[in-house]
Amino acid sequence: MEDRETADGVLGLVQAYVNSVDLEDGTDAFGDPNTLTAWLVAHGLMRQAQPGTEADLMHAKAVREAIRGLIGANSGLAVYPVDVATLNGAAAASGLRARFGSDGKARLEPEVGGVDGALGRVVAAVFTAMGEETWARLKLCGSNTCRWAFYDRSRNQSSRWCRMASCGNRQKAKRFRERAKAT
Ligand SMILES: [Zn+2]
Repeated sequence: MEDRETADGVLGLVQAYVNSVDLEDGTDAFGDPNTLTAWLVAHGLMRQAQPGTEADLMHAKAVREAIRGLIGANSGLAVYPVDVATLNGAAAASGLRARFGSDGKARLEPEVGGVDGALGRVVAAVFTAMGEETWARLKLCGSNTCRWAFYDRSRNQSSRWCRMASCGNRQKAKRFRERAKAT
């Protein structure tokens, strides 16, 4: 099986967050509040695992799908107000604010800790990633059942599927069947 393309740095973090669930087979790294906080710690978004709640879990998943929605814009899809509202809500709940570090560089940092703070760091990562040229290359797979966030390395940024061999061919076969039915 060919590997799906992954991005580096802050864009890679955003990509990993969105792809923490495989919509096709249902595997979810955020299976319960504990696996969620373990994931957040492992990715440097939380200092130490604090017990999460079911509400945290729902919030983390809502933020994940909202980011997936915004990435869809890079694939020519519409941006939904509910996704925008979810991300604005996560930014507000974490108290994101501009901070200048001792290195003289500016960053967005949450005021609160816990899962809300970690989700604020995810929103900050999206904010930073959007300011980079590579943002437009982060796309959603065109297969409706997949919707994996993949990094488009093609020279003219024309890739539409995370894996041509599986998703691309399946989508083409589906269209072929629909055309055959229509005639
Ligand atoms: Zn796919």
